Amino acid sequence: MLFPSDCHVHTQFCDASTTMERLAYRAHGLGYVTLGFSPHSPLPFKNDYAMKPMQEMQYQQKIAELRRLYRGRMKIYMGIEWDYDTPYGFPRYDYRIGSVHQMRIGNRYYAIDSSPEELDECLTVVFNGRAEEYLRYYFSLVEASCTRVGVDVVGHFDLPMKFNGSLCRFFDENAALYHEMATNCIHRIVRRRPELIFEINTGAMFRVGRQVPYPAPFILRELAKLRARITITSDAHSVESLAFWQEGAVDLCRRCGHRSIYRLAENGFQAFPLQ
Ligand SMILES: [Zn+2]
Ligand SMILES: [Zn+2]
Repeated sequence: MLFPSDCHVHTQFCDASTTMERLAYRAHGLGYVTLGFSPHSPLPFKNDYAMKPMQEMQYQQKIAELRRLYRGRMKIYMGIEWDYDTPYGFPRYDYRIGSVHQMRIGNRYYAIDSSPEELDECLTVVFNGRAEEYLRYYFSLVEASCTRVGVDVVGHFDLPMKFNGSLCRFFDENAALYHEMATNCIHRIVRRRPELIFEINTGAMFRVGRQVPYPAPFILRELAKLRARITITSDAHSVESLAFWQEGAVDLCRRCGHRSIYRLAENGFQAFPLQ
């Protein structure tokens, strides 16, 4: 077991297809020493993926139950994937992943990662097909999202690339302008909050067959140059996706120049050297 932990795991209280009990059972079977759950935070508009405000209590009760069950064997953390459009924070949680999943334009929310059609609609209707403006706006939201007080982890940094390449081609991921935008955003974030941990997220590899995790290797290399902190996550919505492509991710981080990886340990996130 190269990386016996995961801080990005969904629950039955948001959009996972399985339960926290099953995920914890599987994680323990895989040899995990810690496991952090991270349901989507409640949102102020109609949707079918975020936790409802009244479910927060049930989530917290389930965490307490699992903590009792796994005491001394696997430490359970109560995290949350704090969406940029959730207008309040979560100070009582163990950690917060700051994520952007949609763009609010007027009264309308356009999902970034739900379908190629919705991404295309936003790109066409709002940005007149100008991908660079879409991406510039997206990165401004990411910066605002992850520099909110209380955020610990930067969620799927280059999410708009989810459907790019395999299903359709919205953006040229190799364009110099795109690299410059992403790199500048990374620099601004690390300068403002050097303690933030960027997740290397294999979720879209499992779900839509992307070839590499978020963020892309050129961003991983930039993070290594800046000595920024990273962790590896599966963004699991099912038992099968836990630890998916984990060894590949560890190897990729090493090849991109990283010397250590953060993960949840006995007392929160700690750095572990990459052998
Ligand atoms: Zn997410
Ligand atoms: Zn997630």
